[in-house]
Amino acid sequence: MKRGRTRTLRDKFSILEQIFGYKAFRGGQEEIIDAILSGQDALAIMPTGAGKSICYQVPALLLDGITLVVSPLISLMKDQVGSLGQAGVRAAYINSSLTASQVDRVLEELRYGTYRLCYVAPERLLNSRFLETVFKLDIALVAVDEAHCVSQWGQDFRPSYLEISRFIEALPERPVVAAFTATATQQVRRDMEALLELRDPLGVTTGFDRENLYFEVQRPHGRMDAAVRFVEERRGKSGIVYCLTRKDVEQVEERLVKAGIPATRYHAGLSDEERRRNQEAFQADECPVMVATNAFGMGIDKSNVTYVLHVGMPKNLESYYQEAGRAGRDGAPAECVLLYAEKDIALNTFLIQRDSEEQEGMDADLLELLVAQDRARLSSMVGYCKTTTCLRRHILSYFDEPRATDCGNCANCKQTFAEVDITVEAQKILSCVKRMDERFGKVLVSEVLKGKETGKPVEFGLHRLSTYGVLRDLTGKRILELIDALVAMDYLYVTETDIQRGVYPVVKLGPKARAVLFDGATVLMRVSETASAEPKKRGRKKRAEIEEMALANDDLFEKLRGLRTELARAQGVPPYVIFHDATLVEMSEVMPETEADFLEISGVGQRKFERYGAEFLAVIRGHLG
Ligand code: ADP
Ligand code: ZN
Repeated sequence: MKRGRTRTLRDKFSILEQIFGYKAFRGGQEEIIDAILSGQDALAIMPTGAGKSICYQVPALLLDGITLVVSPLISLMKDQVGSLGQAGVRAAYINSSLTASQVDRVLEELRYGTYRLCYVAPERLLNSRFLETVFKLDIALVAVDEAHCVSQWGQDFRPSYLEISRFIEALPERPVVAAFTATATQQVRRDMEALLELRDPLGVTTGFDRENLYFEVQRPHGRMDAAVRFVEERRGKSGIVYCLTRKDVEQVEERLVKAGIPATRYHAGLSDEERRRNQEAFQADECPVMVATNAFGMGIDKSNVTYVLHVGMPKNLESYYQEAGRAGRDGAPAECVLLYAEKDIALNTFLIQRDSEEQEGMDADLLELLVAQDRARLSSMVGYCKTTTCLRRHILSYFDEPRATDCGNCANCKQTFAEVDITVEAQKILSCVKRMDERFGKVLVSEVLKGKETGKPVEFGLHRLSTYGVLRDLTGKRILELIDALVAMDYLYVTETDIQRGVYPVVKLGPKARAVLFDGATVLMRVSETASAEPKKRGRKKRAEIEEMALANDDLFEKLRGLRTELARAQGVPPYVIFHDATLVEMSEVMPETEADFLEISGVGQRKFERYGAEFLAVIRGHLG
């Protein structure tokens, strides 16, 4: 193990400040960096957006020798290398998106010691040309990103991750190994440690909770309409709309564009060229709304996404939390809303099956195990969609981070429930079902209770029953709601019965009906007060207020943003690579006039200051007149 190989001239704080422009480390970062610098392996479990990259990028700049970053995310590599370049750090990547001669060039530069960091795809590690070069290098650190991929218990197992330990073992001298992931249950944690052969690693787990995210599940009737409405109500905001299928993506995007919303789309069926173009348009805020399948988003670090809307349920909570977590990266309040429909379960079950059939050459027992795990994950996801308790607690307990209290920032927490006494209505409904011999469906039951004078109630002679018309004062819709509630509470149940021409759902008395009919038991129904309309408004107001504060200097913010757009265009990079929105907001609030003050802004490092400081300062000075 290589201990104490740090360069003495610089320390982690000055790197954080001067290169990355941040004042302080976030939770977990410093401990991990210290461990790595002292030669200890590390295993870091931090949620998306917590800042894992800094944990290996800072050591990479302090250690003698190069840092290899193993990552499965090709789009992330390009982005990270681009961002590092902006901060004045030499880095490269090697993956299947490069041509053979481009790879050769990177390998050659590696031999010259040009780079501090090199990102590689796991498949590349045992490639002989790569090995030949790498064996001659002084490798100080191997950082394994998305380390859960090594585990068969994880949600995206990658066999090539199993080769990482072999690669490390083959190196002339063992570097420090640090593994990073956003999601890990106990089982996956153990696998990462064992299969990556970490040596006495420092384990760091930072909280999974993202307090600024608001969670909600809705079950609207027309989902497409609801999705379009949702986006229209948030006009001018940047958001991501995830759909389950390519077809849905196309439909939603088309409707949004028709409604005059600058939306774009992303799915695996589009050409590389279109995907790249659309992603760039989204990142540059030319098209602030992205409609996409789950193919979109790996490595996207767009800080001003204010909502993530799911039109359909993803296949597990890992995916959901990762996708939803792309909202609110700037720490400002953001919404994560899922539009659920019962049929999503069938679609996901089908997808799990299909994916398993596409796995070629995998051991049959292993495959069976993977499918069983996927099904279990799906059922936790369904649980999330159906629970009436705190949504955040549901998520956090799934990630083994139980929370003692309700969060107060999800739809279920904001919904206040009232108990309404429906004993009298329940008695009438239950006795009507009994008098109808438990032979009919709920619509006909409701029509008899309502006293409908035409159609089936009369045709079947049900208008002669004593319960005919006993709920005539209620609307048909209300009667159906009451029947549904009685079904949910086990006073009634619905079963299928063969009658003459086919199978029909039939309402029958449930186990709790007797007590109501014969012993006068009270029936209480839990109803949401004001049906969530009001709490939602409150949530939005809060965001608006905060934005108002944040953008107190809207005008200046827009000017700074304009300058950033120009600079980004000129270099062909996404704007946030130059400065994040949060950095521009701070500039517009603080309005630094001197170089020293400008350097104080979070996100302004030495290099970026040298490159952009003068121009941004000029805009600020101009604004102040
Ligand atoms: P992860 O890989 O954990 O999802 P990233 O490494 O992409 O997260 O970091 C998320 C965002 O947080 C990035 O924009 C990054 O620049 C920012 N960030 C990381 N560390 C800090 C810090 N100490 N102070 C301020 N911002 C930070
Ligand atoms: Zn809650």
